[in-house]
Amino acid sequence: MTEKNQNGKHKLSDAPLNFKQELTACFGQPVSENPTQAMIEAAYQHHGLDWRYLTIEVSPDGLRDAVNGVRAMGFRGFNCTIPHKVAVIEHLDELGESAALMGAVNCVCRRGDRLVGENTDGKGFVESLREQVDPTGQRVVIFGAGGAARAIGVEVALAGATHITIVNRTAERGNVLVELLNEKTPADAEFVLWDGEYTIPDGTGVVINATSIGLYPDVDAQLAINLDSLSAGMVVADVIPNPPRTHLVREATQRGCKVIDGLGMLVNQGVIGVKYWTGIDVDAKVMRQALEAVFGS
Ligand code: NDP
Repeated sequence: MTEKNQNGKHKLSDAPLNFKQELTACFGQPVSENPTQAMIEAAYQHHGLDWRYLTIEVSPDGLRDAVNGVRAMGFRGFNCTIPHKVAVIEHLDELGESAALMGAVNCVCRRGDRLVGENTDGKGFVESLREQVDPTGQRVVIFGAGGAARAIGVEVALAGATHITIVNRTAERGNVLVELLNEKTPADAEFVLWDGEYTIPDGTGVVINATSIGLYPDVDAQLAINLDSLSAGMVVADVIPNPPRTHLVREATQRGCKVIDGLGMLVNQGVIGVKYWTGIDVDAKVMRQALEAVFGS
């Protein structure tokens, strides 16, 4: 049981005052436009946790020292964003199952003295997807083959999607992901080179933009996609969190599709990360509201 004293400090009911906060963070470069702190600290406050979440610029050359700093200062965990999701692995003690499968980590957790790398990006996405449709048996089209597409592709396949089409501008990256999906998951995957306007095949249930097209500051960028091939029965998702109402989100909404924006995935991966760190099931609504306040949506 916890409560706050008159100074707003978090204390155990019968325990002495505690002026030491538990620390978590996001390491990235660039990182100043990453809004994660707003949603995680809103959750900490809402649940009465005297924890902090710091947004820290870490260069690739500084990553080793930063992780040593985490060990020395007893951080409870941290998120990794561009460009550290793969590079961080060599500095950790262990990987969770899906992080090992994807070869990428976005959430590091302290378990005892060990730093364990997890990947919550795809899991967060699947949580958002389940709010709209059961992934089991779905035919899925994913644009992109980078870190986000890998995480989403693997978790959507493990959640029961039967067919996944990876549409990517660069063949090599797309083929590597298709190989991973075919070898390591039960889904059938195929690659399509994205060299013109792509038409969504009939029978597709879920369409996902997992590229960085539309991300601030290129907010007017559009996917090369035949928008008339989007139909009302489809779920259309976009990973772009900033701004959340991308061109694809607006067009899909107009066509009556069920739409998932990038904030949904961001919130849900955050909920899973905070659970790993604190053991608490945090209120996703509080986190979403904090982000909406940031983006004015
Ligand atoms: P990567 O750099 O690893 O991959 C980017 C992908 O986008 C590649 O497939 C790349 O294709 C494609 N791409 C970029 N520009 C274009 C273009 N002009 N035309 C066609 N394809 C393009 O990035 P990540 O996968 O790590 O991140 C992608 C996005 O996902 C980012 O915007 C990030 O903000 C978002 N994201 C959102 C999360 C959330 O919680 N909402 C979580 C994680 C990421 P190619 O291979 O040909 O270069």
